[in-house]
Amino acid sequence: MSSKVVRTRMAPSPTGDLHIGSLRTFLYSYAFAKKNNGQFLLRIEDTDQKRQVVGAADRLKQVMKDFGLSWDGEPVIQSERLGIYQKYIKELLDRNHAYYCFCPQERLDKIRNDAKVKKRIPKYDRHCLTLSPAEIAQNLKDGLPYVIRMKIPDKETVSFNDLIRGPITFNTADLDDQVLIKSNGIPTYHFAVVVDDHLMEISHIIRADEWISSTPKHILLYKYFGWTVPQIAHLTVLLDPSHPGKMSKRFGSVFAQQFLDEGYLPEAMLNFLMLLGWNPGTDREIFTLEEFVKEFSLEHLHKKAAIFDRKKLEYFNGLYIRKLNDDKLFSYFKKFLPQASDGQIKILIPILKDRIVKFGDLPATLKFLFEDIDYDSSLLLQRDSTKELVTEMLTKTKEVLSEFSDLQNKLTELIAKNSWNTGQYFMVLRVAICGATFTPPIVECLPALGIEGTIRKINIALAKLK
Ligand code: GLU
Repeated sequence: MSSKVVRTRMAPSPTGDLHIGSLRTFLYSYAFAKKNNGQFLLRIEDTDQKRQVVGAADRLKQVMKDFGLSWDGEPVIQSERLGIYQKYIKELLDRNHAYYCFCPQERLDKIRNDAKVKKRIPKYDRHCLTLSPAEIAQNLKDGLPYVIRMKIPDKETVSFNDLIRGPITFNTADLDDQVLIKSNGIPTYHFAVVVDDHLMEISHIIRADEWISSTPKHILLYKYFGWTVPQIAHLTVLLDPSHPGKMSKRFGSVFAQQFLDEGYLPEAMLNFLMLLGWNPGTDREIFTLEEFVKEFSLEHLHKKAAIFDRKKLEYFNGLYIRKLNDDKLFSYFKKFLPQASDGQIKILIPILKDRIVKFGDLPATLKFLFEDIDYDSSLLLQRDSTKELVTEMLTKTKEVLSEFSDLQNKLTELIAKNSWNTGQYFMVLRVAICGATFTPPIVECLPALGIEGTIRKINIALAKLK
């Protein structure tokens, strides 16, 4: 490597939205680079054209920005570099580390099926490895479709020292002659990743655990080219405690954007992700991105799978909501409650900011402000209330509602004057206004509903009792 600069990268494939696990990976790569005054680069790995999703790369860049994670320099886009891979594959062919394979798909399918029957891992049988130069030349001249495969040594060991897991050793007997260039001339991930990590002078690769089994192939390629292998760290998987195995979209949100749409704050998400697989070595839990960068070290990454505890995420989000200043709170309320007027939002912020877990809960919590919720009249008869009593309570409430000032005191007086049960009264009021028994503090919310709105809801309740 030409320099000792620390250089990490994020190398997403634009096949869909950014997974929260990838966001964690990128966060750690970012932190490691920044901690070491290095660079964090972006490479779009768009070599699998079948799996590509239009717009995914742009969405990915945007969501990274929304989380405050910026990369250095211009993104490297693999589909724009096909000439580079051609040049390097030629080198491997010339040095006999790679070979043309003209096997038709049916033949490869048969190998795969036979292996399946014998319960073996399918491996290419190297049929084309023995083609003579003349046969190869003829096939190429005839325009036969081909792929280019990597020649894996027969029985060698390949080892690397994973920065998180320690030494990992593979036997090449277990490796397939990996396709490096597909029949459309485009490289596979395995070839492009090695060429690009080398050309981009990546010093440290931090990536998901699913790539461990590919790493020996990559290391062989580095060796064939005579290149220095970067340091490699494979993070552990993220488990969702609600079900066995890896996180799955069948059991809740898994994409970074989904969490933002639900009203999680980017800074709370990042803080939560920081601790999913890393610890500062102390009890401290709250970190800004800048503080995390300062504290981050690979030695404190965990070797055990991390548990994606959604309750903990909610806890972090609540903490960060309470830290927002009034302007920020106002803009989040406005975004998540577009029906609310500025005046309503100003009333609601102090009532709700200490209670909500995420902004996406606001519309359901405050639905009663914007529509009349249908409920069964029996709900009004909580705690042994009679129709007569509830009717009296609601009718008398309307009379003191001519203005909202000092509302709490007015209602307390009303309750005392009539010797009502306080709990019973407020439950009746709550149901009449919200159509539900669990609501935000009801008296405080009435000014957001307004006198007319409040009286209308009370009238609806009274009508239900008739
Ligand atoms: N494009 C690969 C992915 O989507 C990158 C793997 C790596 O970091 O080497 O995860």
